[in-house]
Amino acid sequence: MPLAALVREISEHSPASRPARLLAVSKLQPAPAIAALAAQGQQAFGENYVQEAAAKVATLAPLGLEWHLIGHLQSNKADIAARIFDWVQTVDRLKLVGALARHRPAGLAPLNVLIQVNIDDEDSKHGCHPEEVAALAAAIVLEPALCLRGLMAIPAPHPEQARRRTAFARMRALFDTLASQYPQVDTLSMGMSGDFPLAIAEGATMVRVGTALFGQRPSP
Ligand SMILES: *Cc1c(COP(=O)(O)O)cnc(C)c1O
Repeated sequence: MPLAALVREISEHSPASRPARLLAVSKLQPAPAIAALAAQGQQAFGENYVQEAAAKVATLAPLGLEWHLIGHLQSNKADIAARIFDWVQTVDRLKLVGALARHRPAGLAPLNVLIQVNIDDEDSKHGCHPEEVAALAAAIVLEPALCLRGLMAIPAPHPEQARRRTAFARMRALFDTLASQYPQVDTLSMGMSGDFPLAIAEGATMVRVGTALFGQRPSP
């Protein structure tokens, strides 16, 4: 789908006062495909793999894009992640909070972080349990090198829309609680190509769209 059409569709589903932001998910997409979207005005891109992202961030540095990590982060890659990303959306344990804060270069703005929540309690998924959000948030706000911006989730791709809707709604409730405690919290990242209208209806402020924008991903 062309960028302009996707942006229009997102804004049609969004509250008039605050359209959801589009994060273009560019994992496995080559740098020229990203540059082409940037030329059309897309600013924020999401990557899943630190090594792959590092190469593209370096290549595309002159474009001044905003880079988000949306894939699982291993602690031993936290040093690279803290240097190359503007946002890390997958903070799900205390160890990462300390590692990212320690490695964020002093000359850069604070690293924006989202806490990833395993909202459907799936064994196979990363993300913290909903009850762990408060403790993680409290640790993040103590770090001047980090800025807590909100929550991220990848709900189970349940075939029943009603089940996906309740997962999004539970995220919204967690988000509202967090935002009432911390004024800088403004981002609820949920919804992908297959379900972003539903996610926006339930309160997403950022949607992460790959396939619908770039077409099928090349295989790794
Ligand atoms: C790949 C990915 C997306 C985008 O998925 P599409 O279905 O291609 O839109 C969004 N979020 C995360 C965390 C992903 O890994």
